[in-house]
Amino acid sequence: MSESYQLSCRQCGRRQENAPVAMCEECIAPLEVAFDLESLRGKFTRELIASRAPNLWRYRELLPIPSNAQPALPVGYTPLLDAARLGKQLGLEKAYVKNDAVCLPSLSFKDRVVAVALERARAFGLHVVGCASTGNLANAVAAQAARAGLEAWVFVPAGIEPTKLVASAVYGARVVPVDGNYDQVNRLCSLVADQFRWGLVNVNLRPYYAEGSKTVGFEIAEQLGWRLPDNIVVPMAGGALISRIRKGFDELVAVGLVEAKPVKFFGAQATGCSPISSAVKQGLKFPEPQKPRTICHSLAIGNPADGHQAVETIVSSGGWAEDASDEELVAGIELLARTEGIFAETAGGVVVAVARKLVAEGRIGPDETTVLAITGNGLKTTEALSGRAQLMPAVAPRLAAFEALLAEAGAPAASPSAR
Ligand SMILES: *Cc1c(COP(=O)(O)O)cnc(C)c1O
Ligand SMILES: [Zn+2]
Repeated sequence: MSESYQLSCRQCGRRQENAPVAMCEECIAPLEVAFDLESLRGKFTRELIASRAPNLWRYRELLPIPSNAQPALPVGYTPLLDAARLGKQLGLEKAYVKNDAVCLPSLSFKDRVVAVALERARAFGLHVVGCASTGNLANAVAAQAARAGLEAWVFVPAGIEPTKLVASAVYGARVVPVDGNYDQVNRLCSLVADQFRWGLVNVNLRPYYAEGSKTVGFEIAEQLGWRLPDNIVVPMAGGALISRIRKGFDELVAVGLVEAKPVKFFGAQATGCSPISSAVKQGLKFPEPQKPRTICHSLAIGNPADGHQAVETIVSSGGWAEDASDEELVAGIELLARTEGIFAETAGGVVVAVARKLVAEGRIGPDETTVLAITGNGLKTTEALSGRAQLMPAVAPRLAAFEALLAEAGAPAASPSAR
């Protein structure tokens, strides 16, 4: 039973058959999925892709799912929006937003990685699935496990947003809050994965899970008319998304779907948990673990599993990394909402705030095509904005009362002759 892809060690290059394992036994380095790209040249074409439904399964030849899999859930293919109004505020003439705040079924890009991992879990005959999560991944596992008829156990730090806990429990998943931070949750999950035959999507299924992130890159390239952007700004937690978008771009070039061109990768983190961006700034190859202290829980991974790969992606591309304080990220959420009508979660605020810094530092040029990866929905993290929504005082249901309110507000658009 051989597929067109195998596991390959990032360090020693040793190949092995597909299995629910994440580390090379020889050198304890991460495993990743390697495809036979040569065999796809000329066969996996733009026309073939265009003939398929608008979801991430249109790229199935480059996803590590069984060749006979029939995935039915339409995950992905989220809008790539021309963001002229946001771009103007940031100093960018060609800004785009990749809007995974509306990714189905659970409103974050984690739906992509889970869709791929669960197909793999099914192929391995695993009936219980789960994850170590900062919230969004738990939501995605819970939702998709329900639809697939799998039992789900999701492990989260006890302090994450209440909305994200509810949004996992509603699907019938067992939600296990752990008294500790994400890195402690992750260690517990490694022990659980070893002890039971469970498919923990970002632990023992991690190489397959990470491949789902490539689809963000595939879609951006297709939506730009099969071109690569000049720059991409990506939020980083474990570092899988940014490094696999690059893997995805490289694979598109290798199979002949896009022309090769340099793309600069820019990583974004919250200042209160910035092991990867700090490593880039300090010239370190391996991030030094940190204790997270930020309201951006979705990016609060102090010891990122793909941190080294993320640093390598950024540095070798000629990009850079920056971080944003909690105050700056909240301003970023508001700016995106007010310019583009997109309500992103805290991670999106980090991306907008970091993009602003990178333009100001001259690391991103004003006339370059720049994509901002918005990865989660703001309705899950409304506490980040508590006390900031500006409401008017309640008004009596009479025109005169409203006119009095208008006069007090003194807004120019309020004048009856203004339109
Ligand atoms: C998980 C997550 C990320 C980062 O993903 P990694 O692959 O772990 O770096 C970014 N944004 C949101 C909203 C997330 O939930
Ligand atoms: Zn190895």
